[in-house]
Amino acid sequence: MADIIDGKRVADNICKKLKEKLKHESSTPTLAVILANNNSASKIYVSAKEKKSSQIGIKTCIYRFDSSITQGNLIKLIHELNADDSVNGILVQLPLYKHLNQNEILNIIDPKKDVDGFHPINTGRLCSNLNPYAIPCTPKGILKLLNEYGIKLQGKNVVVVGRSNIVGKPLALLLTNHDATVTLAHSKTKDLKKITKNADILISATGHPKLITADMVKKGAVVIDVGITRQLDKKLVGDVDFEKVKNQASLITPVPGGVGPMTIACLMENTYELFKLQN
Ligand code: NAD
Repeated sequence: MADIIDGKRVADNICKKLKEKLKHESSTPTLAVILANNNSASKIYVSAKEKKSSQIGIKTCIYRFDSSITQGNLIKLIHELNADDSVNGILVQLPLYKHLNQNEILNIIDPKKDVDGFHPINTGRLCSNLNPYAIPCTPKGILKLLNEYGIKLQGKNVVVVGRSNIVGKPLALLLTNHDATVTLAHSKTKDLKKITKNADILISATGHPKLITADMVKKGAVVIDVGITRQLDKKLVGDVDFEKVKNQASLITPVPGGVGPMTIACLMENTYELFKLQN
C-alpha cells in the first residue's frame, strides 16, 4: 500500500521558516488580493490566504467587488497597485465576473508583482527556463512535494492530466525544465488509460472526481491529486479514486491535505521573494 504524502506537514514547515525570516525584516511584505466574483469557493480560498498571511506576518489588502465593478475601474486599481511601493504582490482571484476580461487584467499586472506567475512575461520566462519572477503556486508546490519525498525527476515519465494555464500547462513546463519526460493530457486526449499506465509519476488536475481509477495507474507509481471538488455532502474529493489507487501506487497525496496546503505556502513564499526583489 502507498505511503501518504503529507502536504500539510511540508507546507507548515515552509510557512514556519518564512515566519522566522520575516521577523528579521525591517518592513512587512504586503499582498493585494482582488476578489471580483461571487463564487463561494473563491471566497473560501481568499479567506484562507488572508488567514495564512496574518499567521506568518504578511499584510494583506483585500479588494472585494460586487458585480457592478467595471473593467475600467479594475484596470485603474491594478495601475494604482503597480505604482504603490508598499504593495509587493498582486493576486487576482480567478475566475472574474463573466463581464470582465480576465486576460487583459492579468496582463497589466507588473510582472515583478505578479505573485501567481500568470503574466505572459513570467509564463514566457518559465517556458524558456529563464527564472520567472514568480512560478505559479500549485506547480511550484507540487515540485517541492516531489523534492521533499526524494522523488527524482530526471528521465521519469510524468503524465499531467489537465492543461489549464493555472496548473497543467505551467506544471508541464516546470517538470520539463527539471528533466522529466512529460506528457500533457486533457479532455480531448484519446485512450487516457494507455497514457497514464506509462507514468512513473501521474498528476491529475481536472476537477473530475474518480477520473483516475486503479487500472489507470502503473504499479508503484507516484500519484499526485490536484483536483478539488466539493460533493453534495460538503466533503472535498480529488480526481483520484484514492481508496483503490492507494493499493497500486507507492506514494499518493490525499485530498484534502496534499497539494492544497502547498499552494498557499508557495503563495506566501512568492510574496516574500517578490518583496526581497523589490527591497
Ligand atoms: P480547469 O477547469 O481550468 O482545467 C481542467 C482541465 O482538465 C482541462 O484542461 C481539461 O481539458 C481537463 N479535463 C477535464 N475533464 C477531463 C477528462 N475527463 N479527461 C482528461 N482531462 C480532462 O481547472 P484548473 O483550474 O486547472 O483546476 C483543476 C482542478 O484542480 C480543480 O478541481 C481545481 O479546484 C483544482 N485546483 C486545486 C488546487 C490546489 O491547490 N489543490 C489549485 C488549483 C486548482
